[in-house]
Amino acid sequence: MQNDIAIFSELCDVLFKEESLQPVAQPIPTHELYNKLDLSLNEEGIIDDELTSNLKSIIKNTPKTASTSFFNQLFGGRIGKAALGDLLAVMLNNSMYTYKVAGPQVGIEKEVLHKFCELSGYGKDADGTFAPGGSMSNFMAMIMARDAKKDVIRAEGITKPMTLYTSKSSHYSIAKNASFGGIGKNQVRLVRTNGQGKMQSSHLDELIKEDLNNGFIPFFVNATAGTTVLGVFDDINAISKICRKHNLWLHVDGAYCGGVIFSNKYKHLVNGLEHSDSFSVNAHKMLGTPLSCSIIVTKHKAQLHHSFSNEADYLYQTDGDDFNLGKTSLQCGRRNDALKIWTLWKSVGSKGLEKIVNHQFEMADVARNYILNNKDYALYSFEDSISVCFNYKDIPARELCTALYKDAKLMVGYGTFGNQEFVRMVTINSVIKKEDILSFFNTIETYVAEKMLKIPVS
Ligand SMILES: *Cc1c(COP(=O)(O)O)cnc(C)c1O
Repeated sequence: MQNDIAIFSELCDVLFKEESLQPVAQPIPTHELYNKLDLSLNEEGIIDDELTSNLKSIIKNTPKTASTSFFNQLFGGRIGKAALGDLLAVMLNNSMYTYKVAGPQVGIEKEVLHKFCELSGYGKDADGTFAPGGSMSNFMAMIMARDAKKDVIRAEGITKPMTLYTSKSSHYSIAKNASFGGIGKNQVRLVRTNGQGKMQSSHLDELIKEDLNNGFIPFFVNATAGTTVLGVFDDINAISKICRKHNLWLHVDGAYCGGVIFSNKYKHLVNGLEHSDSFSVNAHKMLGTPLSCSIIVTKHKAQLHHSFSNEADYLYQTDGDDFNLGKTSLQCGRRNDALKIWTLWKSVGSKGLEKIVNHQFEMADVARNYILNNKDYALYSFEDSISVCFNYKDIPARELCTALYKDAKLMVGYGTFGNQEFVRMVTINSVIKKEDILSFFNTIETYVAEKMLKIPVS
């Protein structure tokens, strides 16, 4: 093992060097992948030197999500202390289901969850768990809502159609989860959004009333804190009033931007959160930990336990339910995802997490200001968002993004809102600096000037 740690350290040095020298790995076309790299698995093993050199070439060709040229997704960058916590979790290799097997790691997870409950304003009956991702956090919320509405479903299944509500701009996992949970995709009502992509609560109310009149059982509303494309925040206060009126479970999907609860400056964006029933955050997005680190908390600890616990004599043999976290999780064996956010949090404090969040908004401001002050650009996103959406010189966004990727210049993606397609740059890497933002635009401009004159203008 000592030898493998030495290899690991050598490989990290290669990775760090690559990240600065070749921040966008030259992509290998899929049809050439198995010719370019030796990915084959064979009868005979190989010696360490060969393995190390093989791994080095794989590292060189793997996309660099921690580089300062990566703006493609809702995660990015690397914060040392969070990575340290995750590496340690790999070495300790506990499974989080029981206190017997995970010991103090259970205490660590409980402390993180307790703090998240507190920051959500959820009171003393709150609890939570770590889910395999934001999609699965949303799934857990939907299942709790379903069981809270009709407990008999756990045993009997659904007998009368139930309906749920989410905005047109929400994450696709809601519809997928509706099929998993026996609700059915056709029972997902898409609420209209306003010009900024926020859920229209008046339309929500209309849809619920219509379903009630038609004999459906409305049970769940999903609001979003940071929509996937534009990064906008639904009005939780307004939506929660409608949920209370009709007795529906309100979940706030904060996978992308729920991290704002750490920021005194930006937590107003989730005003009313304390009126929701559950809330999820992907710490691997705005809080900058490695993937995956997905937290879901709920005001109703009893419901969490009720929907997800199962007796299992072969597993739960010591300690109480409060310290046997398998009683509230989706999985059985479960990775220790808490240690990475705990290690980061312990080292920088809540104040440090606030800085991480604020910095992303500041970088988005830099990007938006650049766009607004340059007439070759058109801006499509809004203030208080770390998704900066724009077009440059009317060049079709998908062609620009694809060309930048194929020529290994930048990793950035495109999105649509209404009938407009645009480049979506995400300033979620909390270690990027103002220069990196300016260099991003500079790269686009130079590239277009040199290479893209032939691309048709829409
Ligand atoms: C990323 C995201 C999700 C999905 O999270 P995964 O961890 O990728 O499953 C859900 N909702 C929103 C708003 C997201 O941005």
